[in-house]
Amino acid sequence: MQTLHSAPIVLPVSADPIGDGAVLVDGDRVLAVGPRAELLAANPEVRERAWSGVLTPGLVNAHAHLQYTDFEELNSLDQPFHVWIGRMVEKRATFTDAMWGESTRRGLHMMLRAGITAVADIVTDPVGVLPPTARSGVGGVSYIEIVFEDARSWSESGRALLLERLASGPAGRALGVSPHTPYTVAGAVFADCVAIARDKGLRLHPHVAESPAESEYVLTGTGPFAKSMTEFGKSMELIRDGGSGLSPVQYLDKLGVFGPDVHAAHCVHCDPTDREVLRARGVYAALCARSNKILQSGQPPVADYLRENSPFGIGTDSLASTPSLDLLEEAAALRTLAVSQGYEADDLDRRIVEAATLGGAGAMGLADVGRLEPGARADLAVFSVPESESVTPESAYGALLDAAAAGTHKCLGTILGGTIVHRG
Ligand SMILES: [Zn+2]
Repeated sequence: MQTLHSAPIVLPVSADPIGDGAVLVDGDRVLAVGPRAELLAANPEVRERAWSGVLTPGLVNAHAHLQYTDFEELNSLDQPFHVWIGRMVEKRATFTDAMWGESTRRGLHMMLRAGITAVADIVTDPVGVLPPTARSGVGGVSYIEIVFEDARSWSESGRALLLERLASGPAGRALGVSPHTPYTVAGAVFADCVAIARDKGLRLHPHVAESPAESEYVLTGTGPFAKSMTEFGKSMELIRDGGSGLSPVQYLDKLGVFGPDVHAAHCVHCDPTDREVLRARGVYAALCARSNKILQSGQPPVADYLRENSPFGIGTDSLASTPSLDLLEEAAALRTLAVSQGYEADDLDRRIVEAATLGGAGAMGLADVGRLEPGARADLAVFSVPESESVTPESAYGALLDAAAAGTHKCLGTILGGTIVHRG
C-alpha cells in the first residue's frame, strides 16, 4: 500500500529542502522524495496525506533512559551530579519490573508525540523495559547497562548476567552494550564488556566525561566517586593506583574502548586532544546540554565540535535530569549554547537539525533512519511552525528551531515504519 505524504516544506536532511514537497511511502520504506507535483504525476492513483507545516525525518534521540520517565521529580533537585546519582540509586530500589515497564511506555509515548522515531536507550532493567520498547516498533538500539561492577562481582555474577541478557532480548529490537562509566565499572570489566560486544558484533554506548567529579576520579582516583565506590565495597584499579593521570577520554582510549562501533554520551569535559581522539576513532558524541545544566556538570563544547567537524548527535537523557523528552527543544537549547560559545557560521541551524537526525543515526551506525531518501525507513515527523506562510525551504531549519526555542512548535504527526502513530 503506497501513501504520498505531502507538505509545504519537506526537509529530507540528507538532501536540500524542497518547497511543496512529498515523500512516497511503500509499506515501511520510503520509495521516493521530491516535488509533490512530480510524484503525483508519476503516481496518479496514489492515496495522498496532505500535511501542513514542515515534514522531516523522524527525529533520532542519541541518548535516553526511557525507564526513568517516572523519575521526573529528580530533575528539580538542584544538586550536582554526584549527589543526584545517590538519589537515583535510592529511588531505583523502590521500582519493580512492572513499574519499569510502565515508566518506559510513558517515555515511548512522549517521544512519539514529539516526533522521535528512533532512540539510543540505556537499559538497566531489561526484563521490564525491553518488551514495551520492542512492541512499540521504535527504531534504534537498546544498550544493556553494566554498572557498579568490580572484577570480583563481574566474575561472580555480572558477566554471566550480561551474556544471558544479550541472549534473551525480545525479537525486533537491536541490542547493544553500555558499560556505564569509568568510575562505576572497573577497568578490566570495562575492557571485557567491549570484548564481549565486539565478539557479538554489537554496538557500545558508555557515558564519558560528563562531570568534573568523573575527571577527578580518572585523573587521581579521588573525589566523591572514589568515596562512593569505596562505600559500595568495590575494588577499583583507579582508586588503588591513585588514578590514571589521564582524562576520561584518553583513559578509555588506552583501554582500547573507542572505535566506530562506539558512541559516547555527554563528552562535556573534552579538551582539544580528547576531541581529536574521539574524531580519529570515529566516535560520535551524544550531547545532552539541558541535562548537563540541571546536574551542574558544565557545558558541552558544541561550538568546538562544530568548528572541528567532530561527529555528534543530540540526546535528551532521561526525564530525571531534563525538562522534557522533546528532541527539538533539546536541539534549540544546543543551538543557543553554540551561539553563546561564539559559533557564528550561517550553517548552524542546518547542522543542529542534522545532529538531531543524521547525527543520532550515525551514532548508532544506522544508515536507514534520520534521513528521507529511497530505501530509508518510513519514519517521518511533521511540525507546525508559527507564521508558516512566511517560511521558505531555506529558512525552514531555523524556523523549526526558533519555534522550539519559543515553545510554539507542535508535532502534527509522527509516522513510524509507514504507520501514523501520532496526530496532533
Ligand atoms: Zn545517561
